[in-house]
Amino acid sequence: MALQDPDSMEELVYFTNRELEEGGKITCWVRRRECPKCGKGLMGKPRNEKTGDIKVRARTYVCPDCGFTMDKKQYEETLTAEIRYTCPHCGAQGETTAPYKRKKIKGVETLRIKCEQCGGAIDITKKMA
Ligand SMILES: [Zn+2]
Ligand SMILES: [Zn+2]
Repeated sequence: MALQDPDSMEELVYFTNRELEEGGKITCWVRRRECPKCGKGLMGKPRNEKTGDIKVRARTYVCPDCGFTMDKKQYEETLTAEIRYTCPHCGAQGETTAPYKRKKIKGVETLRIKCEQCGGAIDITKKMA
């Protein structure tokens, strides 16, 4: 299955493109999804009622069509991360998808995937702001 590159940052909740400390490379993105309630609106961060600006740090996502609101973490865990990688262990290039669920590994929020070639773990750690 070939991954489709995202068309714009607009449709994403997450994007990273980086070289891993232990070698190898990853590009990872997560697309927004339709509202689980009405199935029409694309869930997004709420906007400030006065300025219309997106509240980037909001802890919720809201449907622009029906107003359905969901906790940020709950919503994000229903999404799928799409990952293109060069494995740090065996050097294979591959593509994979995984549920967008981070686990704490060595105290850092990490999305761990497996190389389809060698089975080695590839960790995408959350960058500190
Ligand atoms: Zn909706
Ligand atoms: Zn590998």
